[in-house]
Amino acid sequence: MRLLITGGAGFIGSNLARLAVGDPAVADLRILDDLATGTMSNLDGLDVRVVPGSILDDQVLDDAVRGCDAIVHLAALPSVPRSLRDPVSSHHANATGTLRVLEAARHHGVGHVVVASSSSVYGANPTLPKPELTWTGPLSPYAVSKLATEAYAIAHQVSYGLPTLAFRFFNVYGPRQRHDHAYAAVVPRFVHAALRDEPIEIYGDGRQSRDFTHVRGVCAILLDAVRRRVSHPHPVNLAFGVRVDLLTVVAELEQIVGRRIVRRHQAPRAGDVRHSEADNRVLRELFPQVRPVPLKEGLRETAEWFQTNVVKQPLG
Ligand code: NAD
Repeated sequence: MRLLITGGAGFIGSNLARLAVGDPAVADLRILDDLATGTMSNLDGLDVRVVPGSILDDQVLDDAVRGCDAIVHLAALPSVPRSLRDPVSSHHANATGTLRVLEAARHHGVGHVVVASSSSVYGANPTLPKPELTWTGPLSPYAVSKLATEAYAIAHQVSYGLPTLAFRFFNVYGPRQRHDHAYAAVVPRFVHAALRDEPIEIYGDGRQSRDFTHVRGVCAILLDAVRRRVSHPHPVNLAFGVRVDLLTVVAELEQIVGRRIVRRHQAPRAGDVRHSEADNRVLRELFPQVRPVPLKEGLRETAEWFQTNVVKQPLG
């Protein structure tokens, strides 16, 4: 199989690339990325063809998609706060960008496209856990752009017979996630602060909860999906239904680093949802053999990676 990963220099994309290069089913791997948030260092040591540029550039996209059998489309401008500051850029990259990727796939006869949507599409819907067919209530431009991502993927399946699969990722964490920009996610920010013995900044009371999903589990499912060409008529939650609050994550990190961590509470952030947990019955039906990485193990692995590659101080 000739596989293209868009956004392959990013956090999830580079973890997937590392898994895919060792897979006998993947004969050729290429990556399309404009390095808006990803880095080439994420791909250090990997033998892959990198097409530099944007999914919004037709020529670049054509070059990357031509000859591919499958695409995992991860390129996007992630982050709710980023989209609140600049909704138009998020829309272009995430909504228009997805449509362009699907159109390129259609024109080049690509056999299968997997896209990345987000649990943020549930937004205002308080149901817990969230089944896929409940109502969506996006609370930010980012969430709207991800709703467009999955809707375009499914519309291409119905309208043009292009086999697609739209996953709703929940809070993915693990090695190679960035801690060092204004829109960094909570786990890498917490891990980095904990390892450096700095106070952890918590928006709100810290009782907000998330279905934290280790990137290894996510990538195993993505690769299995392309290997078996899994498609589905509805979006599929990709998380394991294990919801914990932020204070629990901090407590786990205290165990890992072996000391107390100072918490500093800030005002809650606009656009953030209070609780998030996947109903993952559809995921388990489609991918019965995949097992989640327990939070304790996932956080320890993440902390070890940050300690070796970013902080470079002894752990504990
Ligand atoms: P990331 O920022 O690390 O990766 C995104 C990659 O896309 C980056 O390498 C970036 O440079 C690239 N990119 C951005 N705009 C581009 C463009 N116009 N053309 C080409 N490349 C472009 O983020 P991530 O966490 O790895 O997220 C991957 C996907 O998963 C995104 O679609 C994101 O919306 C989705 N997602 C992630 C999470 C999570 O918890 N990490 C949760 C829900 C959904």
